[in-house]
Amino acid sequence: MLEVSHISARYGAAAALWDVSLQVGEGELVCVVGPNGAGKTTLINAIAGLHPVHEGRIRFAGRDITQLAGHRFCEAGIAIVPEGRRLFTGMSVRDNLELGSYIPRAKARRRDTFDRVLALFPVLEAKLHQQAGALSGGQQQMVAIGRALMACPQMLLLDEPSLGLSPLVVQDMFRAIREVNAQGTSVLLVEQNVHMAMSLARRAYVVEEGRIVAQGPAAELLERPEIQRAYLGLETQ
Ligand code: ATP
Repeated sequence: MLEVSHISARYGAAAALWDVSLQVGEGELVCVVGPNGAGKTTLINAIAGLHPVHEGRIRFAGRDITQLAGHRFCEAGIAIVPEGRRLFTGMSVRDNLELGSYIPRAKARRRDTFDRVLALFPVLEAKLHQQAGALSGGQQQMVAIGRALMACPQMLLLDEPSLGLSPLVVQDMFRAIREVNAQGTSVLLVEQNVHMAMSLARRAYVVEEGRIVAQGPAAELLERPEIQRAYLGLETQ
């Protein structure tokens, strides 16, 4: 469904991604993990048209989206939950959610999708009229995910949804992501929380210094001594 082929990306003269290839199949939940500064945000932003691709190709649902303008991605079926959530903090939770469904295909299904988002995050129901900026970090992340779902995407891109949240809230967030995927939306999840991400995803990619250095079934990667040493703080023989 999503096919990233040999892409590179830069900030001015400085390269941030080199020859990165990855695939996400229809209905799959795949994660990309790696340390701070590895290039995860650049990768997900490049896929979502928020950062220019210097070399390589990105295809989605049989279509070349490498040069697609950022505002066309929703229509193409891709929604991103960006790093830092980027909510309209002075607007109500309801307005933030409804803004997600501005494309005609999503507008027609707004009521149903709205109910689906509230079923996924019931705590938001009592907060609909509050300013998004007054919510806790976890609740703001729920609004960010809900807003992306309001576009009725075929694929959801998530950039570090666990960032800054307590372990209990992270568990709840990951439960919701699993449910979204079980309902048929493909998911590409970028995370520093390696253990949580790999227990959620069936397949994973490891990024270091702008390159994919390992990939495969998440359960298998978790067993590798070098992954345990580098990411899980476990000493292996
Ligand atoms: P983090 O988890 O800290 O967000 P990341 O894996 O998402 O890290 P990126 O944010 O994609 O990594 O950064 C990849 C590289 O690009 C890093 O070396 C970073 O310093 C550099 N970089 C990121 N943003 C910029 C920018 N606006 N200008 C210049 N260099 C940047």
